[in-house]
Amino acid sequence: MSKVILVLIDGLGFEESTAAAGLLEHLVEYRQAAKYRIQGELPSVSRPMYETVMTGLPVSEHGIVSNNYVRSSECENLFSLTRKAGRVTAAAAYSWMSELYQHKGGPYDPLLDRYQFDSDGDIQHGIFYHADEYPDAYLYFDGDYLRRTYHPDFLLFHPMGCDHAGHLFCKGSREYRGAAVGSYDAIASLLPSWRKDGYDVVVTADHGMDQFGSHTGNTPLQREVALYIVSDQVEKGDFTDRATSQLQVAPLCCSLLGLAPGSRMRSLNLKGGANS
Ligand SMILES: [Zn+2]
Repeated sequence: MSKVILVLIDGLGFEESTAAAGLLEHLVEYRQAAKYRIQGELPSVSRPMYETVMTGLPVSEHGIVSNNYVRSSECENLFSLTRKAGRVTAAAAYSWMSELYQHKGGPYDPLLDRYQFDSDGDIQHGIFYHADEYPDAYLYFDGDYLRRTYHPDFLLFHPMGCDHAGHLFCKGSREYRGAAVGSYDAIASLLPSWRKDGYDVVVTADHGMDQFGSHTGNTPLQREVALYIVSDQVEKGDFTDRATSQLQVAPLCCSLLGLAPGSRMRSLNLKGGANS
């Protein structure tokens, strides 16, 4: 029975991820990690894709159709499935994750909802932020605080720095690249302690970013993201020669956690395969 850390880097496309993820690319090169090219679902915007990553369902099935459509998730998701199994969930994440999975009703209240410990929601222990410019460096420390304090079985890290820099300066800017480098530097620094603590680590993104500082539609820059898996439960190597569906991320996490997948999730069908 493994524990899983999922890092969802908001707004980081495949190309930029490949250019910035030095340590993870090294682990793939030495067949100590797996890498996939993920074809993101549509629309390539945040809130719908949060729900897609967490439930393994396309937008037409889970119903979270736009960033402005605010309601709680009505579907089985990685947090609810982990809790249902009597295990512990935690997240350091953007406020929209609280709106989706804490079932509080109504919009996130920054005064009351930033810290949610021993919660009845799907996320048992959460530290949330509502400012897009919240520094990734703090976010990674928030998440690692949750790891060390609550020992969650499923822990989400959700940094916003790449999306924020991408909207301000666009793909191709030094600011967007700098945000990607910063995020992967943080992951590289924390990865040894995560692995030592028994976590399998999955790193991906909700959507990409184009040269206009935008993401919403159907182009490779907006849709394609990377998926890195650091785990002894999957075949290791570079499997990016063809696209893999974003709907695979949720069943992958279920498999790593040793959980039965959600009833509507697609069956796990990674090219490299799972060892178990
Ligand atoms: Zn965005």
